[in-house]
Amino acid sequence: MSTKHDRAGSHHCRRMAAVFSDYLDRDLREAACRKVDEHLKRCPDCRLYLDTLSRTITLYRGLGGVRVPKNVESRLFATIRLAAAKKKQTKRTIR
Ligand SMILES: [Zn+2]
Repeated sequence: MSTKHDRAGSHHCRRMAAVFSDYLDRDLREAACRKVDEHLKRCPDCRLYLDTLSRTITLYRGLGGVRVPKNVESRLFATIRLAAAKKKQTKRTIR
């Protein structure tokens, strides 16, 4: 597998996004987790995504332990890419 990483926002990031919810659930095997970790080190876009996704999942769990639907994940990803493009940094704490 290629380890070459293009700029944040390349398609492979979308593929990464597909495994993030499993990653957060620790459903992934160790090797896959390492792969995700490696990617995250190099890709601030995905770090931002994962951070937001993790907060979203926390919210969902607070609502009764449901998993975040896939369409929510992809919409999140689109939103975050927009936010990253604007380089707006607003820190919010979700309680
Ligand atoms: Zn990425």
